[in-house]
Amino acid sequence: MAHVTFKGGVFPHKRKRFTREKVLEEYFPKGDLVYPLLQHVGGMAVPVVSPGERVLEGQLIAKASGDISAPVHASVSGTVKAVEPRMTVSGKMIPSIVVENDGQYEKISAPEMRPWQEMEAGEKLRRIREAGIVGMGGAGFPTHIKLAVQNPKKIKYVIVNGTECEPYMTGDYRRMVEEPEKLVEGLEIVLSLFERAVGVLALEDNKRDAITALQLAVRKESRMEIRVFETKYPQGAERMLIYSVTGMEIDSTRLPADAGCIVLNVETVCAVRRALAEGLPLTQRALTVTGKALKNPKNLLVRLGTSFAELPDAAGGFLKEPKKFVCGGPMRGTALPDLNVPVEKTSAGLLCMSKDYVFKPSACIRCGACAEVCPIHLLPARLSELAVEEKEEEFRRMHGMECLGCGSCSYVCPARKALAPSIQGMRRKLLAQGKR
Ligand code: SF4
Ligand code: SF4
Repeated sequence: MAHVTFKGGVFPHKRKRFTREKVLEEYFPKGDLVYPLLQHVGGMAVPVVSPGERVLEGQLIAKASGDISAPVHASVSGTVKAVEPRMTVSGKMIPSIVVENDGQYEKISAPEMRPWQEMEAGEKLRRIREAGIVGMGGAGFPTHIKLAVQNPKKIKYVIVNGTECEPYMTGDYRRMVEEPEKLVEGLEIVLSLFERAVGVLALEDNKRDAITALQLAVRKESRMEIRVFETKYPQGAERMLIYSVTGMEIDSTRLPADAGCIVLNVETVCAVRRALAEGLPLTQRALTVTGKALKNPKNLLVRLGTSFAELPDAAGGFLKEPKKFVCGGPMRGTALPDLNVPVEKTSAGLLCMSKDYVFKPSACIRCGACAEVCPIHLLPARLSELAVEEKEEEFRRMHGMECLGCGSCSYVCPARKALAPSIQGMRRKLLAQGKR
C-alpha cells in the first residue's frame, strides 16, 4: 500500500484496542435531554416549541436563524420542560431546550420523498439544511453551506475523512466496518452535486477491516477510490488530508473548495444519507465511550442531547476512580469539568482517564522538537513566547494564525510546555478582533 503523507506529525499511542472490536450499540437515554441552540458555526437556532408542549422524535424544535445556522430536532418523544441557559461542552452557558423523555420514542411520520436520484441539486441542499446537518468531526460548520460552492464543476475531489487519527476514538471506524454500503451511498449523494469530482475514501493504514469492507462496497463505483495513508497524527486535519490526496497546500485564508476539494467526516456523510434516503433529521451520532477508568468501553449510537453523565454506566461503570473526563480524544478534545453537559452534534467521544497528567513546565531547552513535528512548519516555541508576551503583530508575522491547534508540539515537548493552548489562545483572541 502506498503511503503519501505530510511532513511532521507525531505517533501517539493509538489506544483503540479498548473499543475497535465493539459493535455500535444503540443507547436509550434515561434522564432529560438538553438541546443547546448553538451546536454549530453561525447563528443560534430559534426555538419553535414552548414549555409544556409535547414533542416527537425527529420533530423540529428550533429553526435555523439564517443561512449560516442549523435547526435542531428532538431525539426522543416527551415534553418540553424549559428553554433556558445550560452548561455545554464548551464550558459556556448556552440557551437550550430541555425535554423530559417519556421513554416512548414515538417518531414523527417520515415525509413523502422522491428517491434522491430524482432530486435537483437545490432540493438536496435544502433537505440537508432542513435535517440540521453540520460537520460532525468537530468543526460544526453547516454542511449545506459547505456543499453550496459557487462553481460545482471546479470540485475535483470529495474526500471522506475516515482517518480518525485521534487516539482512542473508534466511532468512524465502526461505521465504516458495519455500514460501508451506507457510507458509500452517502458519498454517492454528495458526488451527485459535483459532476466532475472523484470520491476519495481516505483512511489510515491501521484500519484494515474498514479498508476491506469499503473495497468491497466500492467495487462497482467508477467514481470512487480508496486512499490509504500512514497512521500518523494529525493525518485527519483538513489541510493535511488535502495535501495527502492532492499534493496541494492551502493556508488558513483559503477554503478547501479553492483547492477543488470538499472534505467531509464519516458521520456527516452518513447523516447526509439518512436525510436524503430516509428523510431523517440529525438526531443521533456514533460516540466512543472509552478510557482506562471504565469497565467496559463501548461504541454507542447516542441520541443528541443525552447527558454525558449517563454514559459511563452504559460502559459498565467505573473500574478505577476517574481523574479526568475529555469530550473527544486526548490530542484535540475538550476537558470536561463536569459530566452534566449534553452530547452535541460535534461530540465524537467521552474519554474517562484514570490519571490526570498534570505536568509542571520547565524552561525551553531549545531542542527544536516542536518545530520538527509541526505539520505547518511553524516555530511553536517562539510563537508560544509571543503569545505569552502578547506580541500580536510579531505573532501574526510569524504565521501564528496558521496554527491548526493539533497539539503535536505540546505532545513532544520535553519541557512539558503548553505550546498549543497558548498559541491557540492568542489565535482565538486575534480572530475575535477580526485580525488574521
Ligand atoms: S504550532 Fe499549531 S499546528 Fe504546529 S504543531 Fe503546534 S498546535 Fe500543531
Ligand atoms: S520542544 Fe519544548 S523544549 Fe524543545 S524547543 Fe520546543 S518548546 Fe523548547
